[in-house]
Amino acid sequence: MGKTLVTGGCGYIGSHTIVDLHDNGFNPVSADNFSNSYQKITEGISDLIGKPLTNYDIDLCNLEKTEAIFKENPDIDAVIHFAAFIYVPESVTSPIKYYRNNLINLMNILDCCKKYNVKNIIFSSSCSVYGNSKELPVRESTPFGEAESSYARTKQMGELIIRDFCLAYPDTNVVILRYFNPAGSHESSKIGEAPILENTHLIPIITEVAIGHREKLIVFGTDYPTRDGSCIRDYIHVMDLAHAHTKAVEFLLEGKNEKNCEVFNLGIGDGVSVLETIKAFERVNGIQLNYQLGERRPGDIAAIYSHTDRSTNILGWLPKRNIEDIVKSAWAWEQHKKWLTS
Ligand code: UDP
Repeated sequence: MGKTLVTGGCGYIGSHTIVDLHDNGFNPVSADNFSNSYQKITEGISDLIGKPLTNYDIDLCNLEKTEAIFKENPDIDAVIHFAAFIYVPESVTSPIKYYRNNLINLMNILDCCKKYNVKNIIFSSSCSVYGNSKELPVRESTPFGEAESSYARTKQMGELIIRDFCLAYPDTNVVILRYFNPAGSHESSKIGEAPILENTHLIPIITEVAIGHREKLIVFGTDYPTRDGSCIRDYIHVMDLAHAHTKAVEFLLEGKNEKNCEVFNLGIGDGVSVLETIKAFERVNGIQLNYQLGERRPGDIAAIYSHTDRSTNILGWLPKRNIEDIVKSAWAWEQHKKWLTS
């Protein structure tokens, strides 16, 4: 069994994927410079995989240093490329920072895969490539919409770069995974969502209010054309999402792909509103949340959720967890995570 190089392996989805790969008999190594993760998370990962995590603490925009990983590990047979800047509001105010990081590190990885004969690549994309789609649920064939942020545009551009790469090198195989809204944490609470920058996502904000780090949650908009007026998203448990990467590596290594660039949506296919998410959190955890109905947040779309036929029938991936599992594990993690910064 060769190695799987996981870039951004100490980040939120990357760390859970390393654990899932390990649990399924793969041999993951990480490349992560802790630009938005705590070094201590490696202890949680190492604990779960039962051995010290191999992590290369380098900036993947540095081609020489990136190449050194491939030279040192000639047995890499697949790369999962997570490493990216992911803060939507920051990407709007600092677009060049996002284009430079997210596109240069991708091109460096592609160059290295070509040079060092790594034929299997998984790329982290996002449902934000669909923009404000009128077609719901969105399918992989739904065209890109107008990007709502520079972050979203880096994902669109990343996908286009990969498409051209796949045309130029037909013997390289890529799976592009478009994530909906990842949330929750590993059931052990040894790893979870722990960004260094302030959280902007709904579920970690809910748990931060519940634990008292924030005074209250503002529901951004209650006049959307949805069943209760609040926005609808497709929340996907991070452990299910992590497992989709293991399935994608297996899919490529077993040569199950029809084309050399396959795209899959990763969501559960069901939309949950902001108010329903709050209610699920309160019900499952027996906590009353301090929240207030507020104005719309600029740039938000009313509703988006995934069409799941391709990920179910072609990738063979079936998410097992629902919104209740998500809010339960997110709350367990919130109560546990202080060790990371202590
Ligand atoms: N949201 C909210 N209050 C918050 C944070 C988020 O009402 O403090 C809403 C947000 O407006 C959106 C949904 O929760 O409708 C999901 O937002 P998130 O940032 O988690 O994901 P994204 O907008 O990227 O889908």
